Amino acid sequence: MHFSTLPDERAERAPAAPAIRDDGVQLTNAGLLLRVRQAAHALEGRGIGPGDVVAVLLPNRVELILVLLAAWRLGAVVTPINPVLGAAEVAYQVADASARIVVVEADRDDIGVPILTLDEILAAAPGEAPPAVVAAPSDLALLIYTSGTTGSPKGVMLTHGNIDAMTSSFIEWFELDESDQSLLVLPLFHANGIILGTLSPLRAGGQVTIAGRFTKDRFFADVERFRPTYFSAVPAIYAMLNTLAEDVRPDTSSLRFAVCGAAPMPAEAIRRFEERFGVVLVEGYGLSETTTASTINPLRGARKPGTVGLPLPGQRVAVVDEAGNPVPDGDRGEVVIAGPVIMAGYLGRPDETARSLVDGWLHTGDIGRFDEDGYLQIVDRIKDMIIRGGENIYPKEIENAFYSHPDVHEVAVVGGPHEVFGEVPVAFVVLRPGAEVPAHDLSHHLVGILAPFKRPAAIHIVEEIPKNSVGKIDKSGLRAGLRGTRV
Ligand code: ATP
Repeated sequence: MHFSTLPDERAERAPAAPAIRDDGVQLTNAGLLLRVRQAAHALEGRGIGPGDVVAVLLPNRVELILVLLAAWRLGAVVTPINPVLGAAEVAYQVADASARIVVVEADRDDIGVPILTLDEILAAAPGEAPPAVVAAPSDLALLIYTSGTTGSPKGVMLTHGNIDAMTSSFIEWFELDESDQSLLVLPLFHANGIILGTLSPLRAGGQVTIAGRFTKDRFFADVERFRPTYFSAVPAIYAMLNTLAEDVRPDTSSLRFAVCGAAPMPAEAIRRFEERFGVVLVEGYGLSETTTASTINPLRGARKPGTVGLPLPGQRVAVVDEAGNPVPDGDRGEVVIAGPVIMAGYLGRPDETARSLVDGWLHTGDIGRFDEDGYLQIVDRIKDMIIRGGENIYPKEIENAFYSHPDVHEVAVVGGPHEVFGEVPVAFVVLRPGAEVPAHDLSHHLVGILAPFKRPAAIHIVEEIPKNSVGKIDKSGLRAGLRGTRV
């Protein structure tokens, strides 16, 4: 399957059928082909050809997808940049990716490499389509920059073969076809938004609606207006939707399912969302390095909140000890993954690639265990593990204990420095709106649930917990804030 010829195939099959829309633009398949050709002309006119890297610095809008498909048509590689990054961060990614051009919404002079504006693309003639370059499966397609919660951002190299395998897995798992419409709420500079939110429905013959900026009050209005069949979101979004007033009862009848991933989602929050809004919610797990997802709860068959589901077809998922040997079923260890969705490596970082990819297995840095039915549970991340006087403590276990308190809205536990033990757990808790619970009550609540050494040495009630752009809790930021303090 080649995304470089997808617009042609769709336009031939059903020219008047809807393809993709946002607030301002609405394209049929014929329109999509025309606009992709136009963008390809504009890029070609600026000297872009096979193997060149095109950076795309755009918010979620139709043009971002047009540029992606146009660049692939020319055999070029795309690196999407988070539009909220500052000039220095943009410059870092542009230089690291060796981008030859940066596509931007409007003229700006702080980028340092040539830019191409949307107006310039619109001014290009569609003309004859440049003949589509048919990429080999091993050719580079996307450079996704990890958000850097573990160090400086690295370019994850995804190939056309990776994207082919991932989109066909999603189509199979979710039974996507031309009647499907995704409502895109996640950013398009991450794999989830591009692969599950956009390319999978387009490949299946369905359509994509790009939602405006997420607010909890607007979200279901978009669902009622556009009638999507699914959407994919992160726990922070579901947490906000779960706080909508009880009398908000939106019409969700168009939705076949919703997907949650990117960070742990409390089982209780999944159940609450499903019951309240009448939508099947499946949690999955993956990394940019596995093109998007490696395990997901099934649509048919048992869904198990609190687990991230079953391995997707074609992927091998194992749990290993420090020597790399599989642990007995039920035991904890590092999650390793092999299969056609595993990245080609980190751009320009052979050492880090060699550390992560060992004999074809990606070492995820996540700690997991398989339950008795073969469903994977993510216990924690290796780097988030707290070592208190030689004893391993999983922050997630402590966080789950907090979530069993009805007034806890959100919690993050990190290791804080301690003179005797080296590290001890410290909790940051956001209470439900209107709740007033002193920290010592929360501490008391944990007594029956957690062994003494696991109970936090300090509990901070806070207004908000810092998160990155996809809603992942910034644990390294929280840890950094504790440095120099003594618990
Ligand atoms: P990094 O923090 O390594 O710089 P990132 O957070 O940007 O990168 P991604 O590839 O977006 O990297 O995220 C992958 C990580 O997200 C996984 O390794 C895992 O820790 C976490 N993750 C994803 N889905 C889930 C889930 N359902 N439950 C728990 N953790 C998850």
